[in-house]
Amino acid sequence: MVFPRSVLVTGANRGIGLGLVQQFLKHPEVEIIIATARDVSKATELNTIKDPRLHILPLTVTCDKSIDNLVEEVVKIVGEQGLNLLVNNAGIAVNYGTKVEISRAKLHEQLDVNSISVVLVSQKFLPLLQKGGAKSTAPDFTVGKSAILTISSGLGSIGANAIGSKTIIGFQSLAYRMSKSAVNQFNRTIAVDLESDGVLAVAFCPGWVQTDLGSAKAELTVEQSTSALVDSFSKLNKEHNGGFLNRKLEVIPF
Ligand code: NDP
Repeated sequence: MVFPRSVLVTGANRGIGLGLVQQFLKHPEVEIIIATARDVSKATELNTIKDPRLHILPLTVTCDKSIDNLVEEVVKIVGEQGLNLLVNNAGIAVNYGTKVEISRAKLHEQLDVNSISVVLVSQKFLPLLQKGGAKSTAPDFTVGKSAILTISSGLGSIGANAIGSKTIIGFQSLAYRMSKSAVNQFNRTIAVDLESDGVLAVAFCPGWVQTDLGSAKAELTVEQSTSALVDSFSKLNKEHNGGFLNRKLEVIPF
């Protein structure tokens, strides 16, 4: 099992992001955990965690200035060692529109947070991740070296979509599905493009999880999902590069 020296998790004030931070804190190998929140002053649960390894910083993924400010702050924290792992977790799933009745504005909002912002956050952190990889003595293509992991969703699978827009909780998922399919393409494309830079890229479905987004009816607790995810992160190697996997490292069809 390999753990990163430093990790950054977006959207970490609640839900799966908060759970991932709590799981990373259990591992002493992880020396720096950067948890981002849109409004740090309202990140109540994160702010109650007293651990010198935890750094809580603001990030609105849809704002370029906010991303640039975060990069500047992270440089000060990680220093010459760079960053080993970026977890693109922040996401939204707004329930709007039935079938194809969705406005341009709502499509933009959905795709901006879940797809476009993942590209831009990853792009801005790439130099720090490359530095992290160059400085690390961990095995190649592990999260201890240099990795971009993206929390996608099984609903992003085109091959497994037999039910269309409607989901079992009545959520109309067309735009959400599109946003996650797009981010899966991003993941596969950068996995190939960044292979020569030694950066691992994998997309994960966390399962159906009891969060504000997943609803109270979901089958997994945040603890169950995120403990499995972090365990799987620690087992990643080059064979997984570009993959779309569930929390148990099983392959999901694109
Ligand atoms: P939550 O709604 O519980 O949390 C979403 C997080 O994303 C919050 O921290 C939220 O911040 C943040 N966020 C939303 N928009 C922005 C933005 N513009 N800038 C920065 N941060 C933002 O959702 P989950 O924890 O359930 O979801 C996390 C990820 O897991 C998402 O990518 C989701 O698509 C994915 N997922 C979840 C599943 C589930 O069943 N729960 C299933 C499959 C995938 P704020 O508090 O400020 O709104």
